[in-house]
Amino acid sequence: MMKTIMVTGGRGMLGSGMHEVVRQEPRAGHEFVFVDIEDGDLTDKAATRTLFGRVRPEGVIHLAADVGGLYKNVAQGVEMLENNLLMNMHVMQSSREFGVEKLVTCLSTCVFPEQTLCPHVSLPIEETVVHMGPPHPSNEGYAHAKRLVDVQSRAYRKQYGCNFITLAPTNIFGPHDNYSPEHSHVIPSLIRKCDAAMRDGTDFVVWGSGKPLRQFIYSPDLARLFLWAYFNYDEAEPLILAPGPDQEVSIATIAQHVADAFGYTKPIRFDTSYSDGQFKRTVTNAKLMSRNPSFHFTPLPEAIKASVEWFQANRETARL
Ligand code: NAP
Ligand code: GDP
Repeated sequence: MMKTIMVTGGRGMLGSGMHEVVRQEPRAGHEFVFVDIEDGDLTDKAATRTLFGRVRPEGVIHLAADVGGLYKNVAQGVEMLENNLLMNMHVMQSSREFGVEKLVTCLSTCVFPEQTLCPHVSLPIEETVVHMGPPHPSNEGYAHAKRLVDVQSRAYRKQYGCNFITLAPTNIFGPHDNYSPEHSHVIPSLIRKCDAAMRDGTDFVVWGSGKPLRQFIYSPDLARLFLWAYFNYDEAEPLILAPGPDQEVSIATIAQHVADAFGYTKPIRFDTSYSDGQFKRTVTNAKLMSRNPSFHFTPLPEAIKASVEWFQANRETARL
């Protein structure tokens, strides 16, 4: 008998990456059903229950979220808090009600304490410190909604014995990203801007100083890690999914990788009238590597090149 794993946010970036991975590498005895907002708005409790009743999943990988980059988080703190609280609440409630055997929910490394506000938290950040101080103020709404996923997951585990786990990926990029000019994350935004600069003969402009540091993960790599965790990780504590701290790079380096992938050779401009947001949030992947030591991360320049090529082939239909 096949078991059904329902993936929410199935047409988003990570959901699309997972769809491709399971198409290429099927998991024996399991079928995947990818659902998105057209199949049921997860901010609506009744719609969420109807979706669960229709799909009847044995497992759920909950990727749907109200997601965006720094400038969306600053502009839409209310929606980032409320939409994510509602979606996560309804998915957990329905997962218990419909007897889901395993639920994987997604945190983010941006939900961890901001180190400059919490001197007792040292870098690189590890899983245990998630509630030990405020997150960076720029993404307070999103971060608190995601932190409650950890609280709620553990509460269901303790009270009802539910196998709910939480995974905390670092900044993600890859095919099927959101390319909104104002509200996307940095890599899709830079890809879109460099593409326009190449086509129009204009400057490639990066917002902020380019000095902040981030760890990035390519969405197909992360999709593989989520699937590995679905089948292999059963602990209450979150698991950070990221390349190691030695892979942390500046936004300027990312912009240069994007420029190289496009063959943009003029100087890159930095518009410092835009804020930089969080300077860094270095995380350790020691726990991940102790559990999954052979995992291979796609090298950043290669993954950025592949993402640029995807955008060039899909720019007319890419999400905004
Ligand atoms: P994404 O591309 O925006 O995908 C999210 C999906 O959720 C979209 O398909 C979206 O549909 C869907 N969705 C939004 N509101 C919904 C609703 N009310 N009901 C049902 N579906 C809804 O995001 P992603 O980057 O793949 O993110 C996947 C997960 O990783 C999220 O949980 C996110 O918080 C987490 N994460 C992301 C990053 C990152 O850098 N991107 C970093 C850390 C963690 P529409 O497109 O139609 O709105
Ligand atoms: P964050 O990692 O959660 O802060 O979110 P982002 O993916 O939005 O990355 C933000 C960092 O990239 C900040 O330091 C921004 O100043 C910088 N950045 C540079 N250009 C852009 C851009 O065009 N869009 C976005 N979102 N960030 C940019």
